[in-house]
Amino acid sequence: MKNSAIVGINWGDEGKGRMVDLLTQSYDVVVRYQGGGNAGHTVVNEKGKFALHLLPSGIFREGVVNILGSGVALDPENLWIEIENVRAKGVPVTPENLKISDRASLLLPWHRDLDELEEKRLADKKYGSTKQGIAPFYSDRSQKKTVLAGELRNKTAVREHLSELMEWKNLTLTGVYGAAPYTMERLEEWLNAYCEKILPFLCDTGEYLREAQREGKRILMEAQLGALRDLDCGIYPYTTSSNTTAAYAPIGAGLPSMKLTDVIGVVKAYSTCVGEGPFVCEMFGAEAERLREAGSEYGAKTGRPRRVGPLDLVATRYGVEMQGATEIALTKLDVLSYMETIPVCVRYLVDGKETDRFPFPTELANAKPVVEYWEGWGCDVSGARRWEDLPRAAREYVQKIEDAVGCPVRYVSVGPERDSIIVR
Ligand code: GDP
Repeated sequence: MKNSAIVGINWGDEGKGRMVDLLTQSYDVVVRYQGGGNAGHTVVNEKGKFALHLLPSGIFREGVVNILGSGVALDPENLWIEIENVRAKGVPVTPENLKISDRASLLLPWHRDLDELEEKRLADKKYGSTKQGIAPFYSDRSQKKTVLAGELRNKTAVREHLSELMEWKNLTLTGVYGAAPYTMERLEEWLNAYCEKILPFLCDTGEYLREAQREGKRILMEAQLGALRDLDCGIYPYTTSSNTTAAYAPIGAGLPSMKLTDVIGVVKAYSTCVGEGPFVCEMFGAEAERLREAGSEYGAKTGRPRRVGPLDLVATRYGVEMQGATEIALTKLDVLSYMETIPVCVRYLVDGKETDRFPFPTELANAKPVVEYWEGWGCDVSGARRWEDLPRAAREYVQKIEDAVGCPVRYVSVGPERDSIIVR
């Protein structure tokens, strides 16, 4: 039995999609267990370059079954568009290789509107949402004010349920935000254009996974974002509205009894962060611009330039602990090749005292990075495929990270392509 999770250790965008795409060769089932289309997993393989938002990254492997668990924000519109885009590049997406939990809740069209309206109201205090409706969706889900995907099977009943929800939601849309109310005609269009299309993919994925466990299949849980965006352990309120930690995987997958056998934490060789919120190790100016360009650090969903900085060992150690990572995949080592010496944030300075501890979210604003400069290697490492191929200084960079965060680095990624990887 093998139950693994691939999770982000930091703020997201660590390269999880690339690692799932690589590792799916050793798994039978890949499950997305939380979040929605608000992030992008970039995958480069022989079929092309893809930015996946909701589809599990195992979709490219023949024979792998991909599951959207009950914990995801199931947006039928975005999902259908994504399925069509992927199919247009020759990747089959069928009810055989994609199964959607009938217990997943639907992200309704007004969730996106509410996200946008609230960010506009907040103006310069905005959260930096991707405006995909994720926060309004999860709050409505907790209030039991959305619809389970399986309800779509009964056309009359789902329309009655939606009509009740619409009446309630229109009070907020018109009363609080002065926006136009929803109508059943608009929802009817949405039902026909998107919900009908995903119906054939719905099933009891919990039962499927229980059976898969009995048969000894290998299951891989794919997370979105990273530990610092986790609703419970992250940099609240600049978190997402779901749990990005591995501990949530069994629940969000719809297999609460599952025990994870290994947790692969993905860490980028430097730091990036999209959107608002504290980012202690942030770099600015020409130095930041150079790193951003070298790493092509622009959001997969929004195209927004990502904030960049040196590797933050304080945040990374915390992320490793929160995820219970058993091994690390270190990505984008190749990007640092241009640096003569490499800045690394080794501790924080808070109230005049140096600390290794990741502070309480509101204390982060007072934290300053303590930066050390580690030796660079000064040559292109993107062709390295074995540990011995890496220059000494690059190997030391990896080993020092391992020592500092207390978790073995098992994979070192030196390029976005599937085979640009060193397995130790
Ligand atoms: P995810 O959301 O964690 O999957 O990360 P993203 O897809 O948002 O961001 C990772 C980006 O880095 C993607 O564009 C990948 O193709 C790219 N990438 C992943 N690993 C490497 C690597 O080792 N080197 C380089 N140069 N690019 C990488």
